Amino acid sequence: AAAALLLVSLTACGQEARGGSRYKADTGKGGTIGLAMPTKASERWIADGQNMAKQFEKAGYQTDLQYGDDKVENQIAQIENMITKGRKLLVIAAIDGAALTEVLQRAHDAGIPVISYDRLILGTPYVDYYASFDNERVGELEGKYIVEKLQLGEPSAEAARRESHSIELFAGSPDDNNTKYFWNGALKVLQPYLKTGQLVVRSGQTKMNQATTLRWDGGTAQKRMDDLISKNYGERRVDAVLSPYDGISIGIISALKSAGYGTKSRPLPVVTGQDAELASVKSIIGGEQTQTVFKDTRKLAAQAVAMGDAVLNGRKPEVNNTTDYDNGKKIVPSYLLKPVSIDKSNTQLLVDEGYFTAEQLK
Ligand code: BGC
Repeated sequence: AAAALLLVSLTACGQEARGGSRYKADTGKGGTIGLAMPTKASERWIADGQNMAKQFEKAGYQTDLQYGDDKVENQIAQIENMITKGRKLLVIAAIDGAALTEVLQRAHDAGIPVISYDRLILGTPYVDYYASFDNERVGELEGKYIVEKLQLGEPSAEAARRESHSIELFAGSPDDNNTKYFWNGALKVLQPYLKTGQLVVRSGQTKMNQATTLRWDGGTAQKRMDDLISKNYGERRVDAVLSPYDGISIGIISALKSAGYGTKSRPLPVVTGQDAELASVKSIIGGEQTQTVFKDTRKLAAQAVAMGDAVLNGRKPEVNNTTDYDNGKKIVPSYLLKPVSIDKSNTQLLVDEGYFTAEQLK
């Protein structure tokens, strides 16, 4: 009765209306899976949610798909609601990886297993498995791309005396555990060149906490880039920008264009990205953004579904990493997929893989 009452009161205060799908009676043979996704503001999460819903349903489950609108308190309320409704399993892409400790204690008390999706949930032992991409590799691919595109060769002080390039650095949201993996992966590659002086950060903002972008917001990145250009560049050129996400890259490119970049005499710098979102792939084809990192969300969804199905049926899910993802309470057994670097030369791969149609990329 208490659960029913809570359900009524949550519904009354509009929890249902904020989320994605409506509550369906829990009649599927495998029960209903709660899918808590962070935001609809980015294509990838829409695809992640839909792909998982489709694939779980194919495997005989029903799904309750909710989006938190990038607000931590919404996501917590949505997860609480899923627990109250007796969801059999929770798959969560956290908005703030450290904010779910209490609600996951409740999931544990109710006997509900939890899969951390794409972003590691921190500070709780009640995360059973983690499905993601090799996040450090994502950063490495971005760093390597910059080094190759600027033709820096091997790190050398001699080369730095001949020529140096300016670069500015952007990081993701400070509350997303992936952010430091992307940053560390990229900086591992870039650091030797910063040391020789082949790469110079004119703003001096070389620490991750100076470069983060709360909630991965493109507008925030655009403002920071406006500022970096006006305070540090003047007549001097920015040659490269490390960006960890396509939405941030779009903001950066807007700032660059307002400052007069994107012409013959002042071409845009090398700008990296992540997710192969449609607008950014088109921007790459159009010669604006330079690179992105493709992470096939269909494959990640398939992995999470396989993990969830195994857990619910008393089988051990397949994992390929049991060392790297320590959430402060345990090392969470993980399955990491491989990210792929995309630039103008290989956007066709996205069509060949069926991620986009040729029509969409026109
Ligand atoms: C994901 C990225 C995504 C970013 C912003 C990260 O946790 O791993 O793929 O670009 O969030 O949504």
